[in-house]
Amino acid sequence: MPNSDQDENKICRKECLRCAHCCQPYFSLYVSDQDEEQWRLEGRREILERLLWERKNIVWQDDRPVNLSTGEVERRCHWVQKNPDGTTACSIHNHKPKICSDYSPGSSELCLQYRRVREYIIGIDLHGTLLAPGEKFDEELVAPIARELDRLKGKALLWLCTGNDLSFVDLKVPAPVREMMDGYVLETGCSVSRDKRTEQVLSNAEEIRTIKGLEIFLRKMNFPELNYFARRLTTISMFTDQPRQFYYKVKLIVDKTEYRDRVAVTYSSVAVDLLPGGYDKFRGLSAVGDGRKTIGIADSANDLNLLLRSDYAFSPANFARELEPALLREGRKIAELSHLDSLEQNTLAVSCQSETRGALEILRFLAKHL
Ligand code: SF4
Ligand code: SF4
Repeated sequence: MPNSDQDENKICRKECLRCAHCCQPYFSLYVSDQDEEQWRLEGRREILERLLWERKNIVWQDDRPVNLSTGEVERRCHWVQKNPDGTTACSIHNHKPKICSDYSPGSSELCLQYRRVREYIIGIDLHGTLLAPGEKFDEELVAPIARELDRLKGKALLWLCTGNDLSFVDLKVPAPVREMMDGYVLETGCSVSRDKRTEQVLSNAEEIRTIKGLEIFLRKMNFPELNYFARRLTTISMFTDQPRQFYYKVKLIVDKTEYRDRVAVTYSSVAVDLLPGGYDKFRGLSAVGDGRKTIGIADSANDLNLLLRSDYAFSPANFARELEPALLREGRKIAELSHLDSLEQNTLAVSCQSETRGALEILRFLAKHL
């Protein structure tokens, strides 16, 4: 929110363009009871009167606030004041609502600088990357990981990328880490969650029907290798102790069915995944990245495109080495992260530590060099 010339807030003075782009028209919408109480105590009658007036005279029509007396759409907060040099200031700066005082330039899409500040999107895989075997998140690593994500927040959008669904993320990823995320790519890129509460399915009804048909077919086969069968909105996973070996068996079977041209069979460190053809975590990340540069942090076969097609790619030490030929064929170098002192394109940088500790080393590197 734009600040007056007397503003003491160093962060805003350094970064805020004073453009008022973030000063939304419906002032009363973001006023809290505490703000109102404070204005009463301070005798700020003009603010309280404006608040009352807005509540009576501005209504929502087609998602826009309309002034009932003029019939016009309100475009900016009533308290925005134009300066002679073309910049703006808040005319109630010392008494503005708490939500305005707390706002940091670049911290959300309300701010014009949002895109400039966050020109990257980072996709972080779960199984084998943030999660250690047994789907564990080492408690002593929660705070350090959250700290590095917090350091990166001003530079990049942060998205978890997993083959699982929303309920799994809520169950397995500690709250301090989830809170740092801007959203989740779920079900190997077939759905996304922008609000971390609901899933938006990207695949269409026909693709979902195909996966359901395949599920019925595979369930009948009673594979002895299967630990359990997971079914989500649009994908299925067959959990097993030996995903790589089981993958070859399942792929061979699927390739002999009517489904072979319409589904993708892949595997992670814990399961064989089956999903509509053409989807993957990179595609999901690109769908929400809005043209930003992409950074993939991942380890498994079902992450191949995330490692291959992202602008920058990183893996923990447990990276699935069987992916090396595909990466080298596409011109990717494989380098040890500890040998790099800047981000390198066309390179997969591999940490010397595995899983969560490897992810932590990668996040530290990114926070330092992005
Ligand atoms: S009260 Fe001030 S800072 Fe808040 S939206 Fe209005 S003009 Fe902007
Ligand atoms: S949109 Fe951003 S730069 Fe413009 S006034 Fe608001 S915080 Fe400052």
